[in-house]
Amino acid sequence: MGQGPGISICFIQDSVVSKDEVAMQVQLYSMGLKMVGEPVIKGSVTFLEDASTNKLEVGDAELQTAGATAGNYIDGIMNRDFTVCPGKFCGQCNYKFICRYRK
Ligand code: SF4
Repeated sequence: MGQGPGISICFIQDSVVSKDEVAMQVQLYSMGLKMVGEPVIKGSVTFLEDASTNKLEVGDAELQTAGATAGNYIDGIMNRDFTVCPGKFCGQCNYKFICRYRK
């Protein structure tokens, strides 16, 4: 509405993940598309489990944050820094039942 023509990135998610996890994926795709000159104006995810659709932010500030976060992950991998990071994600983690560091 009032944003002119542009691309909408819509994810359909059939597994249980958080909106934040999907948001980062959509924001990174948006960044890539914007880098090659494609105007991304909207992002969303639809969860099949409950048929809910959620808007995802794809503004410059959100893309900058997603890019910096991805950059930090890449730096960690390149530096072989696999320091355990217990936190709010532990509740959804696939390793939560065997991980001694989980919160
Ligand atoms: S449960 Fe363990 S591996 Fe999973 S996020 Fe938490 S600390 Fe990391």
